[in-house]
Amino acid sequence: MTSADPQRLRQALRQQLLCDRMLGVRDVPFRLAATPPSGSSKSSGATASASDPAESADKAKRLRVLDDTQVKGCTQCGLSGTRTQTVFGQGDPNARLVFVGEAPGYEEDKKGEAFVGRAGQLLTKMIHAMGLSRDEVFICNVLKCRPPSNRDPSADEILACTPYLRDKLRIIRPEVMVALGAPAAKTLLHTAQSIGKLRGRFHNYELGGPLDDEDTVPLMPTYHPAYLLRSPGEKAKAWEDLKMVMAKLGLVAPKR
Ligand code: URA
Repeated sequence: MTSADPQRLRQALRQQLLCDRMLGVRDVPFRLAATPPSGSSKSSGATASASDPAESADKAKRLRVLDDTQVKGCTQCGLSGTRTQTVFGQGDPNARLVFVGEAPGYEEDKKGEAFVGRAGQLLTKMIHAMGLSRDEVFICNVLKCRPPSNRDPSADEILACTPYLRDKLRIIRPEVMVALGAPAAKTLLHTAQSIGKLRGRFHNYELGGPLDDEDTVPLMPTYHPAYLLRSPGEKAKAWEDLKMVMAKLGLVAPKR
């Protein structure tokens, strides 16, 4: 094998990693993708996990195919009869950080974009406070369709819609995820624990997929922006959570 043969090099590396995994090795002491040094700012690499345009384009295409061929025409649950349109989610297909909310609301259903109403405006502020923009992260929901009158998603609806979310996360492969609110946290972590108990520390989200593809992503549950609008006294706790996310990503908050 020559060093100029990237495909064979990838194959050999994959085999080595599989072998290591079988032997119980869970960590490799180096990173394959460039990571900003701890304390670096957004502009020094806090955007996409790999600044490889081909990888970004490939992920964008796979997300588009998922949306166009499966999500847009989905009739897996009754919400297909009441929605204006599906809301796939948007942002950087190669984002290091993904936010997952509950379900589209009135504004999102009309516009076809996640988090564009009042809660979305607060989320935008939270993202800016982290020194990031909405375009640099990916924002989506557990449900792709609005439940009528913004009622809570039913268990059946969550069950029907979660495979799309899991496929999406497997394509993006973020470094860190934030679950906004109880339904997102409970769905992603398969737990019945309250958001108050879950927040404040990282949990493991299993990307799943093929046998050799069981990576885990650190997931921080925090309060949903709509809850923070109703209970502004809890904003400090949410900010503590986001600061942990920033530390994990090597981000520093911009000076105010
Ligand atoms: N609430 C959510 O959970 N998601 C949205 O997209 C908007 C409001």
